[in-house]
Amino acid sequence: MKKLLDSALSSVIKRRTFIKWGTAAGSAAVVVGNALPLKAMATDSTQAKAAEDKVTWSACMVNCGSRCPLQVHTKDGVITHVESDNRGDDVYGDHQIRACLRGRSIKQRVYNPDRLKYPMKRVGKRGEGRFERISWDEALDTIARQLKYTIDTYGNDAIYYQYGSGTQGYKTDGPFASKRLLNMLGGFLPYYGNYSWGQIQRALPFTYGGGRPAAFGSFTSEIANAELLVMFGYNPAETRMSGGGEIYEHINSVNSKNVRTIIIDPRYTDTMLGKESEWIPIRPGTDAALVEAMAWVLINEKIVDEAFLEKFCVGYDEKTLPASAPKNGHYKAHILGQGADGIGKTPEWAAKITGIPAKKIIQLAREIGRAKPAYIIQGTGIQRQANGEQASRAICMLPILTGNIGLAGTNTGEMPGNYGFPVKTLPMGTNPIKTAIPFFKWTDAIHRHHEMTDKTDALQGGTSLKNPIKFIWQYAGNITVNQHSDINRTKEILSDESLCEFILVFENHMTPTARFADILLPDITTIENYEVASNGYASGSLGAVIPLVPAIAPMYECRSAYDICTGIAKRFGLEAQYTEGKTHEQWVAELYEQMRKEQPQVPTLADLRRDGPYKQLAPKHIRIALEGFRKDPVNNPLGTPSGKIEIYSEQLATIAAEWELPEGDVVTPLPQYVTTWESHLDPLTEKYPLQLIGFHTKGRVHSTYHNVAFLREAVTDAVWLNPADAQARGIKDGDMLKVWNDRGETWVPAKVSPRIMPGVAALAEGAWYAPGKDGVDRGGSFNVLTTQRSTPLSKGNPMHTNLVEIAKA
Ligand code: SF4
Repeated sequence: MKKLLDSALSSVIKRRTFIKWGTAAGSAAVVVGNALPLKAMATDSTQAKAAEDKVTWSACMVNCGSRCPLQVHTKDGVITHVESDNRGDDVYGDHQIRACLRGRSIKQRVYNPDRLKYPMKRVGKRGEGRFERISWDEALDTIARQLKYTIDTYGNDAIYYQYGSGTQGYKTDGPFASKRLLNMLGGFLPYYGNYSWGQIQRALPFTYGGGRPAAFGSFTSEIANAELLVMFGYNPAETRMSGGGEIYEHINSVNSKNVRTIIIDPRYTDTMLGKESEWIPIRPGTDAALVEAMAWVLINEKIVDEAFLEKFCVGYDEKTLPASAPKNGHYKAHILGQGADGIGKTPEWAAKITGIPAKKIIQLAREIGRAKPAYIIQGTGIQRQANGEQASRAICMLPILTGNIGLAGTNTGEMPGNYGFPVKTLPMGTNPIKTAIPFFKWTDAIHRHHEMTDKTDALQGGTSLKNPIKFIWQYAGNITVNQHSDINRTKEILSDESLCEFILVFENHMTPTARFADILLPDITTIENYEVASNGYASGSLGAVIPLVPAIAPMYECRSAYDICTGIAKRFGLEAQYTEGKTHEQWVAELYEQMRKEQPQVPTLADLRRDGPYKQLAPKHIRIALEGFRKDPVNNPLGTPSGKIEIYSEQLATIAAEWELPEGDVVTPLPQYVTTWESHLDPLTEKYPLQLIGFHTKGRVHSTYHNVAFLREAVTDAVWLNPADAQARGIKDGDMLKVWNDRGETWVPAKVSPRIMPGVAALAEGAWYAPGKDGVDRGGSFNVLTTQRSTPLSKGNPMHTNLVEIAKA
């Protein structure tokens, strides 16, 4: 076995390919070094196949939205290679849930040089990355002692369970195991929202009502019934890559009727690549202005669906404007220049803002207005702007104005809906702490909690915070350093140990966040764990129940979160209460049987583990968003105060009147374009003339899989720059560049391409922060350039609103 394990480890990458902190000055940002070329890896895999003797089902459990089953081949307890779902004929409706290049690389994640082996405690300054191996007893004693100290000294609300999505699909481990324990100990400070969808999730309930699923729109299967598909920044080819996910359904739908497709995006994404009918590049942060100008055309040319607006909506014109609204406070007046700003939202007005010619805006509006039905959709990159809440609501005005709602072939303008198979979860109990912070405000809750209220920082469930965050519980997340905005500012806050006193990190690898741990715990990977998972949140119409059985024994001294929490519970005398006498595997089996009582069509657990995932298509009646409302609005009212679609929101008018907003921040009852800080109109453009946006790369999922070296070789990191901007700076494709603003600097190679519009640069998020001795990042890390200033309404992450300058390094 040792020989096999040695072979497996050496078939991965022997050398740490990621530059150690403080040693990177003058080096290339991401050096693949002696990474095996892809061809060599394939040969290695083929040779291994001949020696296989066992196949076990598992899954890729990261935050891409899908959850691809994997068949893990092992010999003598060592992974030889990994296959995807390859059952059946792969016909749409019973399609294989094929894994992408990331899931197929999971062996390289498991046998990775960065893999954490033992519990460790910090011995240097926080963040230096100096650790000492300790026993599990010492680790668990320390954690229990620090939890007790924090609770006794400050209160349970000083313990923060932090966002993390590196291991996304657990139902009985990870976050569930952690929160079950913390609730038994008296609770913790919770967050609401998330880094992916914070702004759209907060904004759209004002239009369409709450109480709906997280991804609310029509399924992408409805595209097949549309005459026209309009996509604002939606990019499933790079974000929803599973063979059982949205991209497969999207392509199947588009191709089934050759649906005309228009994509509006500053970057020509892989979702296009010749598959689109038309690409319309747009300046980042200006989508709402484009929509307003199209509304101007639709209204003036009388292509709006007046009957729909009158029956189903509030605030389009005087007839449906709430009594509390100001005169001419309605949408029509705002668009025609009769509202508070007196500006007609003409195509010429929008052309100057968006960079799209007025003629094109008119043509686009007419096409959308006349297409019946039109499926209009947005991705979530748009809402990651300083005016993201406005933009996400504004885009929804196109289907609303044209009546493309609740019918076959339509979408509400939101992200698409998806089917999630209801798999049971470990009971977590109840958190007695009711006041929650927005997910993005945790650094504020460390150093200025006393200033934070519901009206300044959007606290929910309470009006103030009694305590600052003193203890961070980070399970499988790289948010604490890498994935939160403004890494240099975050480091400054975390480095002051008098503020947050203790950081606990559970991880598989030595990530930038792991380096900031006080106690660092080696978590087992999903390949070493039991679980029954569902299909995720971006799998289109295909639901699934996916078995995970350990393919290999836990490596080194790694343990599951359930086992770790059991050990902590024992130190509080709560072990029996925590486990209820069950091992983790027994919980998995018991919860599965509970599910089968409600879903008797699902096979036995033994059959599931032998035969592989159970698949089930979504019922037809849940695929069209707001279908019931459209058919019968009286008996199926929306969750808005009026029960209708609220173009004018009285709730937002109240927030606008009552909240204390920083200068420049705007909340409005109507969805409208707002010029923001660090837009292309900001005077700061004299110093930093380029707008920098982020995107999701196929080569990793956020920061997960970043340390798989051959993925770095397959999908290289680079900052995208238009040839005109490159030429003006004497930059050629492949040159090492420095990208900087007042918040930080990163080094990354150039990708010079007409696939990005002039004046805009694009850099994939998720690369691991790797500062040199001079403190400058050599890792191509996006978040050294982003800001901790939050958006007005959700107090979310405006990570795509950045001004930068770029030059040769
Ligand atoms: S990253 Fe997503 S699409 Fe790729 S294998 Fe994993 S779950 Fe599937």
